Amino acid sequence: MNNILLIGPQGAGKGTQAKLLAKQYHIPHISTGDLFREHIKRQTVLGLQAKTLIDKGKLVPDRITMEMVKERLEDKDCQQGFLLDGVPRTLPQAEMLDEIVEITHVIEIKINDDLAVKRLSARRQCKQCGRIYGLDLPEKKKGVCDDDNALLYQRDDDKPEAIKKRLELYHDETEPLLEYYRPRNIVFQVDGSLPAEKTFAQLKKIID
Ligand code: AMP
Repeated sequence: MNNILLIGPQGAGKGTQAKLLAKQYHIPHISTGDLFREHIKRQTVLGLQAKTLIDKGKLVPDRITMEMVKERLEDKDCQQGFLLDGVPRTLPQAEMLDEIVEITHVIEIKINDDLAVKRLSARRQCKQCGRIYGLDLPEKKKGVCDDDNALLYQRDDDKPEAIKKRLELYHDETEPLLEYYRPRNIVFQVDGSLPAEKTFAQLKKIID
């Protein structure tokens, strides 16, 4: 059973790698950022609560986040394993997660802050289908999606002030989680500065 956590700063390529892993190992990719953005789009109560915090690059409170995650992990498709992307981000979240499931791999995708800022500032997303473009994978025609010609936009939290705040939060709150898991001998590391397929090869080696 593979119950995997991906940990890394914004811009490390967690989303990209998670999609590749989900396909390779037939497990669902659960991204709390995506789940929140979905709620915001549907204008649910949770979405409205989360939106102002998210736009400023702040964290949504632990309990709200973990209730959403718990509900998702109870779905049938998670019974044979799953991949969590973007959670836990704080120690209380890690502790709450331990009450719900047993984690088998914690994989750190490592990049330095300069590259993270560069990648996030360049990131654009399709309004229509959600496809992400960036430094390593730019769109063919500037500002529009290759797939559906819809306009690309920049997430509010990918603007400079929010990026700085998010990286600070990562170093202060999330990076220490690696130490929380280390005594269990389930922590691994891959290099997120490489081209996506090279990072993916490192990930496969760890899981296989
Ligand atoms: P992401 O797409 O993972 O960068 O998430 C976007 C935003 O959603 C974050 O900057 C937070 O505001 C919020 N968020 C996502 N995951 C969590 C989490 N585990 N705990 C608290 N807030 C979160």
